[in-house]
Amino acid sequence: MAIVQEFVKNAEKDPFFRTLAAVLQRHQIQAFLIGGYVRDLFLGRPCKDIDITVIGDGTRAAQLVADELGVKGEVHIFKNFGTAMFKYQDLDIEFVGARKESYSNLSRKPAVSIGSLADDQNRRDFTINALAISLSKEDFGSLLDPFNGMADLHVGVIRTPLDPLITYSDDPLRMMRAIRFATQLNFNIEPASFQAIRTQKKRIEIISKERIADELNKIILSGQPSVGFKLLRECGLLPLIFPELSALEGVETRQGKSHKDNFFHTLEVLDNLSGLSPDLWLRWAALLHDIAKPSTKRFDPDQGWTFHGHEDKGARMVPGIFRNLKLPMNEKMKYVQKLVLLHLRPIVLAKSEVSDSAVRRLLFEAGDDIDDLMKLCQADVTTKNEYKQKKYRANFELVKQKLVEVEEKDKVRNWQPPVTGELIMQEFNLKPGREIGLIKNAIREAILDGIIPNEYEAAYAFMLERAREIGLTPVNKK
Ligand code: ATP
Ligand code: MG
Repeated sequence: MAIVQEFVKNAEKDPFFRTLAAVLQRHQIQAFLIGGYVRDLFLGRPCKDIDITVIGDGTRAAQLVADELGVKGEVHIFKNFGTAMFKYQDLDIEFVGARKESYSNLSRKPAVSIGSLADDQNRRDFTINALAISLSKEDFGSLLDPFNGMADLHVGVIRTPLDPLITYSDDPLRMMRAIRFATQLNFNIEPASFQAIRTQKKRIEIISKERIADELNKIILSGQPSVGFKLLRECGLLPLIFPELSALEGVETRQGKSHKDNFFHTLEVLDNLSGLSPDLWLRWAALLHDIAKPSTKRFDPDQGWTFHGHEDKGARMVPGIFRNLKLPMNEKMKYVQKLVLLHLRPIVLAKSEVSDSAVRRLLFEAGDDIDDLMKLCQADVTTKNEYKQKKYRANFELVKQKLVEVEEKDKVRNWQPPVTGELIMQEFNLKPGREIGLIKNAIREAILDGIIPNEYEAAYAFMLERAREIGLTPVNKK
């Protein structure tokens, strides 16, 4: 147990663990490290969340340790659960009184009573999450592993300590957690357990959308998110929690023509993108980029399958999906919406002659999100045809180069029109009204089309010209 030995050795020097052990001993409190921290210790994953199970009162132990550490912030006490939390340096520390849980059918909130360490380990979701390490002086560092979680850690298996049918029915969130851990850790879910998820999937309805979205986000942020979504599909949870994504699955063939399976394509794009960006919301954009393909799908005898307008319709579906999953309805949602809307544009550019004005328009519309948009498009190339792949890559490079050139020249990326509405009103002594919009639009279009440069002088002259055409004369300023 080299890892435990090293942990014990480090703990002697570590201010938190040293103080913790001393306080526990002084007050004769029996306590154990448990759950995610212990699991991650053995996996060599960094972990800043420390969960401690106390035999007896968790809140008193937390208060004593926090006092001894000289914790400045508050110790948050959750009375009805015998739980207390505080922050120390970059650690989140949680003390819980060991407990026994019994579940009713209607909610995932169990009835809780005081229990032993064994009771507390019994209530854990997976064997790898039930590992405990003693913090008592006599046997500091000894491992308590009643369900052989170490063996499961070793071979990479997600298994419930007790009967999986009961474990998942008691708290159906565990089904999402099983799939999330399998994805994050690249573990397998034990077959009996996966079968139990299949059987119990409908129970997911008692879980709040927020908690489901939390787990989805963790899957999306993992190294290979497709693993989780494929498992969700296989066990039948996906249509229950995310019907729009589930609807992407399937291939239809007519007159010998088939379209690709948009579910598996989407997952490939998401995995590709994960290699390019750690950003959660960009990854959401990848997940949703083709979301309107089922509802825009048509068969044309000449062209074959088309999905006209799926980017536009998809962007309009984003708020509903976010609202349903209780994801934030703020600028993050708007960002995802914008990327879905624009996701075809760089590809269209890459496929045709790349004109300055088309590049300028794209820059103008994407603004600061242009680099993310390019990453999304790059990830969207999933063709297995090497010739096509090469061609697209080369064209992308061309578009990227053009973007840089045009931006250097015209600075339209974060564009502020050189002539503002206020200036127009002032020059022609106008009240806010239709004319101002007309002139402003005309100036913007002229700049984007490259008719005039993106400069004040040129825009001012252009304004005078347009104004004259609609019968406006500037007020004499002297
Ligand atoms: P992560 O912090 O990466 O989400 P974790 O395993 O630490 O992983 P937490 O939600 O922090 O997960 O929970 C800490 C511990 O509490 C878990 O390791 C597990 O032992 C237990 N636990 C959490 N949620 C459940 C649950 N729904 N059912 C049973 N035990 C749970
Ligand atoms: Mg944790």
